[in-house]
Amino acid sequence: MPQVVTLSVVTPMFNEREAVDQFVGRLRPALDGLGESYEVIAVDDGSRDATVSRLMQLRVDWPQLRVVALRRNVGHQTALRAGLKAARGEYVVSIDADLQDPPETIGEMLAAARREKVDVVYGVRSDRSTDTAFKRNTAGLYYWVMRRLVGPWVSDQAGDFRLMSRAVVGVLNDLPEPRPVYRLVVPSLGFSSTEVSYVREERVAGETKYPLSRMIRLTFDSITGFSASPLRIATWLGLLSFLLCVALIVTGLVAWGTGATVPGWTSLYIAVLLLGGVQLICLGLLGEYVGRIYAASQGRPAFLVAFDSAAPTPHTAHPLSGGPLTAEIEAAELDRERAPIA
Ligand code: UDP
Ligand code: MG
Repeated sequence: MPQVVTLSVVTPMFNEREAVDQFVGRLRPALDGLGESYEVIAVDDGSRDATVSRLMQLRVDWPQLRVVALRRNVGHQTALRAGLKAARGEYVVSIDADLQDPPETIGEMLAAARREKVDVVYGVRSDRSTDTAFKRNTAGLYYWVMRRLVGPWVSDQAGDFRLMSRAVVGVLNDLPEPRPVYRLVVPSLGFSSTEVSYVREERVAGETKYPLSRMIRLTFDSITGFSASPLRIATWLGLLSFLLCVALIVTGLVAWGTGATVPGWTSLYIAVLLLGGVQLICLGLLGEYVGRIYAASQGRPAFLVAFDSAAPTPHTAHPLSGGPLTAEIEAAELDRERAPIA
């Protein structure tokens, strides 16, 4: 695919109608000021608000804005994947749409990549004080676990705000993995890298799209995507309970020999509960990996693009006129389909 621009900025959006105007208001001057050719790929991750139609309006006087709408919500990382696939730039930056990552830092990232001739520039948070205490603590725990399981190269201050060269994006796009966790996959590839620090700002509007359940999902994907060591926990637990059983058998035999065999309810009760618990944990662990293998073997697309404003030909016919369905009409129809029922 020809590289048509120097820089692609990929931004996944899920129900960001409230933030999108402010985001564009800050992103555009930051990018125009670079004096480079660029494109912005807004990936709408199946928003249920008017994000898509607002983006299509904004596109009218900002031709560099490209809208890629996914058919349904597939989650931040997969939306990012859709954006990386669509990006055509020599360098690609991924950034959140809520202005927590300052767009002005993109210029610094590009300059650092060129100056130091590196393939990856990580945006590193110098300050997380604007995040809630809950977010800070859970994020701290997440990175602590990941560093132990995945490797010491996982930075606890690097999220998904980063710049990557075409070489890196090419490798990422070729990954067969259904749900890669980019903040772990990118450093694991071992490309040359540097860091640019920035202050994590407060979400400009709307609320976080990462509730606890999604954070737990991300954690499971991160662990099972990188390490089989939890399966080893099962082996160790099994070994430990086997040793415990041997000791219990010896005690049981001694008790039988000495005739003290009537009381024993408590020990039986504990042993049954303990072993049952250990077995369920091990089954669950196995299940996580089997689930990943299952998803990979199905080979279903991780996302489907409903429309792409840069698509050369419209891919559907208008249901009424029979004529080609333009991206604008398609966007409006998507919005109607998704409007909450009053
Ligand atoms: N996002 C997305 N799909 C989702 C959840 C989030 O595309 O299912 C986007 C969201 O619009 C934002 C980015 O991912 O641009 C990060 O999400 P958010 O700011 O809610 O996460 P937080 O900063 O609270 O961790
Ligand atoms: Mg955010």
